[in-house]
Amino acid sequence: SGKWVKAMEIVKEFEESCRTPISKLKQVADAMTVEMHAGLASEGGSKLKMLITYVDSLPTGDEKGLFYALDLGGTNFRVLRVLLGGKDGGILKQQFKEVSIPPNKMTGSSAALFDYIAAELAKFVAQEEDDFKSTSGRPRELGFTFSFPVMQTSIASGTLLRWTKGFSIDETVGQDVVAELTKALERQGLEMRVSALVNDTVGTLAGGKYANNDVVVAVILGTGSNAAYVERAQAIPKWHGLLPKSGEMIYEKVISGMYLGEIFRRVLCRMAKEAFFGDIDPPKLKEPFILGTPVMSAMHHDTSPDLKVVANNLKDILEISNTSLKMRKVIVQLCDIVATRGARLSAAGLLGILKKMGRDTIKEGEKQKTVIAMDGGLYEHYEEYRNSLENCLKELLGEEVFKTIKIEHSNDGSGIGAALLNASHSQYL
Ligand code: ADP
Ligand code: MG
Repeated sequence: SGKWVKAMEIVKEFEESCRTPISKLKQVADAMTVEMHAGLASEGGSKLKMLITYVDSLPTGDEKGLFYALDLGGTNFRVLRVLLGGKDGGILKQQFKEVSIPPNKMTGSSAALFDYIAAELAKFVAQEEDDFKSTSGRPRELGFTFSFPVMQTSIASGTLLRWTKGFSIDETVGQDVVAELTKALERQGLEMRVSALVNDTVGTLAGGKYANNDVVVAVILGTGSNAAYVERAQAIPKWHGLLPKSGEMIYEKVISGMYLGEIFRRVLCRMAKEAFFGDIDPPKLKEPFILGTPVMSAMHHDTSPDLKVVANNLKDILEISNTSLKMRKVIVQLCDIVATRGARLSAAGLLGILKKMGRDTIKEGEKQKTVIAMDGGLYEHYEEYRNSLENCLKELLGEEVFKTIKIEHSNDGSGIGAALLNASHSQYL
C-alpha cells in the first residue's frame, strides 16, 4: 500500500542521515584530537572540556591498609571499604553498602544532603569488623567519587559548577563539595579526612590500572559518556603549576550524552504521523524521553520469532497494539540504525583519544599494549551497541593495531578506584 511505500522511504532517509562511513569517522577522530589540543592549551580554548583532575599518580599496587570511599553520582550513593595487602597482596577484602537518596534531600539544603550522607557513612564505619580494623592507628581517610560538574582546585577540593541528574540545591553551587562533606562529617563526630576528590571516569581509570597495569584510558558509556586518560604534564600549556614528579596529569574528557531511546522515539513519531499505526496518532509517543534506552535495547535484542518483546513494549509503554510483524521488523531495524550510529561515533571519539596518546599506530620494534577500562550501563547491557563499537574500532585502526588494544569491562571500578586513589594520595603513607 501507499503507507508501506512511505514507511520504506522514511527508513531509507533515516538510514542515510545516520550513515557513519569510515572516512567521516576518521574526520571526527581528527577533529577530536585537534579540540583536545585546544582544550589543553587554554581554559575555554575549546568547547571540549579538558578538565584537570589533579591526580598526578595512579595506584601502584604497593598500597597497604584500610581505605574508604564514597561514591555519589546519581540517585544512589555507595560507601565502601577495601583492605589492601600491599605488594602482590592486592585487594584482600572489600565491603560496600548502597543507599538511595530520598528525593527531598536532593532539593533541600546543602547541610541536609551532606548530613544524610555523613550519617550513613558513620553507620557503615561503625559496622567495621575486626579483620578490617586498621592496625596502623592512623585516622581513616576517604576517597570521594562525585560525578557532577566540578572545577577542581586541588586533589582534595573542587567547586560545584552545577547540579545535574535531578539534584537542585542552589546554595551548594559555587561551594567546595569536600568542605561541605567535611563539615557534615564533623557534625557527625566522625573523624575522617577526604584525601581525594574524583570523577567516576578517574575512579575507573585508577581501578582499571590497579587490576591491569596496561590501562591508560577509562571510558564511561552510561547516561552520559565521558573519558579520562593520562596526559604528559609537558603537553598541557594551560597548566601553570609545578610539574608533578611523575610528569603526568590525568585529564577528563567530556563527550555529550547519547539519548538513544529519545532519537528512536522521534523517528517513531515520524513513522506514526506518515505511515504507521493506522489513523490514530498515539498520544504516549509524543512524550519526550518516554522510551528509555533500556527499552530500546530490549526491543533491539528481541529474538522471538514473532517479536513478542517489541509488541509488548509498544503496548505497555506506548499503548500501541495494532502492529503487524512486518512493522515490528521495521521498528527493530530503526533501533539498529540508532544504536549503530551511536556506537560508531563513540568509536571515533575513542580513536581521537588514542591518536592524541599516540596509541593508534605501532612503533617499529615496540611491544605496545593499550588497555581501555570501560564501564557504564550502556556498554554493559547493550550488546549490539558494544559489538558495533568494537567492530568499528577494529575497522578504524586496522587489524594489526587493533590487536594491541584491549577493552576491559571494569565492573564498578569507580568506587574501588576512589578507595585506591585515597590510598595513593594518603597523607599518612
Ligand atoms: P550513569 O552513572 O551515567 O547514570 P550508568 O552507568 O549507571 O549511568 O548506566 C545507566 C544508563 O545505562 C541508563 O541511563 C541507560 O542509558 C543505560 N542502560 C542501562 N541499562 C540498559 C540496557 N539494558 N540497555 C541499554 N542501555 C542501558
Ligand atoms: Mg555512573
